[in-house]
Amino acid sequence: MRICVFCGSSMGFRDEYRLAAKNLADFMAEQNISLVYGGANVGLMKVLADTMLEKGIEVIGIMPRSLVRKEVAHESLSKMIVVDTMAQRKEKMVELSDGFITIPGGFGTLDELSEILTFNQLRIMDKPLGILNISGYFDHLLEFFNHAAEEGFVRKEHRDNLIVSDQIEILFSRMNDYKPLSMGKWIEEIKVESNHD
Ligand code: AMP
Repeated sequence: MRICVFCGSSMGFRDEYRLAAKNLADFMAEQNISLVYGGANVGLMKVLADTMLEKGIEVIGIMPRSLVRKEVAHESLSKMIVVDTMAQRKEKMVELSDGFITIPGGFGTLDELSEILTFNQLRIMDKPLGILNISGYFDHLLEFFNHAAEEGFVRKEHRDNLIVSDQIEILFSRMNDYKPLSMGKWIEEIKVESNHD
């Protein structure tokens, strides 16, 4: 099994973030789950990759050529896949991974999270997506998702499709039980809603 982890190219200011990346890597190594990630040698990405490589677990990095040129590429991965664009990188991540976990990060991490949320919503793929909510880092974003659902821009079932926990074991167990959403009803409802005055 392969899990793709989205996480910061920064370390964050709290030790908890670094520790969470390490704990996640330890857990995945114990379960013999391979890592797919952005391929960098910086921030929480580095902590994750180094911890798994030390334990002899497969780590696949996927990076656009422009970033490789900026010399942030990890040089000791099991495999590095170099692509042309950020969009191709995400496509490759989707193709190679059985599920996705987001841990603290910045805009790059949020971009990846949103892409997978949208892919699942549109049934372009059906793979579980979890957030490991370390130290409440994602609380404001989750509140915003609830707000978007209350205001009628995100469907509640799509909001609930996102798996959230601050515990690694619980997150994985809920991702294992993941059931894809059905699309037909939602499309019919937005068509009806759009025909009202
Ligand atoms: P950020 O959350 O903005 O730090 O970006 C981290 C996420 O975006 C990772 O999951 C990567 O896939 C991608 N990314 C952003 N910056 C880099 C970088 N310097 N090297 C590799 N990947 C990056």
